[in-house]
Amino acid sequence: MEQKRSIAIDGPSGAGKSTLAKRLAEQLGFRYVDTGAIYRTVGLAVQRHGLDPTDGAAVGALLQDIDVSISYDDTGLQRMALQGEDVTAAIRMNEISAYASKVSALPAVRDFLLDTQRDMARRHDVVMDGRDIGTVVLPDADVKIYLTAAAEARAKRRYLELIQRGQQADLDTILREVIDRDRRDMEREIAPLRQAEDAVLVDTTEMDLEQSFQAMLHLIQEKLGVK
Ligand code: C5P
Repeated sequence: MEQKRSIAIDGPSGAGKSTLAKRLAEQLGFRYVDTGAIYRTVGLAVQRHGLDPTDGAAVGALLQDIDVSISYDDTGLQRMALQGEDVTAAIRMNEISAYASKVSALPAVRDFLLDTQRDMARRHDVVMDGRDIGTVVLPDADVKIYLTAAAEARAKRRYLELIQRGQQADLDTILREVIDRDRRDMEREIAPLRQAEDAVLVDTTEMDLEQSFQAMLHLIQEKLGVK
């Protein structure tokens, strides 16, 4: 089978990873894999079963009984299903972010999802975003980008996103959540969020989406030796 190409984009929440990764994938003709959505689906299952997301034994047992699947619609958008039910919208609820972040610290959950992610990159050219793609999931990725921005800038973006979707939001609360989530993601023992040694740092605090997109596209094209 022909060697597939992979772009790994890691960084904290709210840095613009998913929006940018999606656009880059479209531009390059690659598949966009949102790994956070997979953790969110497990988080949703844990919430629906009324389990404590930090209880490794209980969550580990639940993993044996649940069916988490990924599919792509006609426009190339990733959709998540839990027990066959489309939960693509449900996993975006603010409450599920904390569940996802907590379950993602459990080794059983990370092991459970590792093959799914690697398999995707074996079969397709991918732009994959997450927290440990360049460090753990795809250590041999062709291009690795660490995308970040100041916590305040990321909280503001998340706030505007929620308001736009018609959800309730409070900026101070969101900033606290962003900081908590960063800390949990960076301080956890297993697969902590950190920049891979061979990743290029892109800080979008002072950049708008278009500038970030152009900077990343340029970098990727250069590394892949295209255009
Ligand atoms: O990116 P998103 O905010 O949707 O991810 C939800 C949570 O899933 C993150 O807070 C992070 O803890 C976890 N995650 C992870 N590893 C990934 C992707 C997401 O631990 N590769």
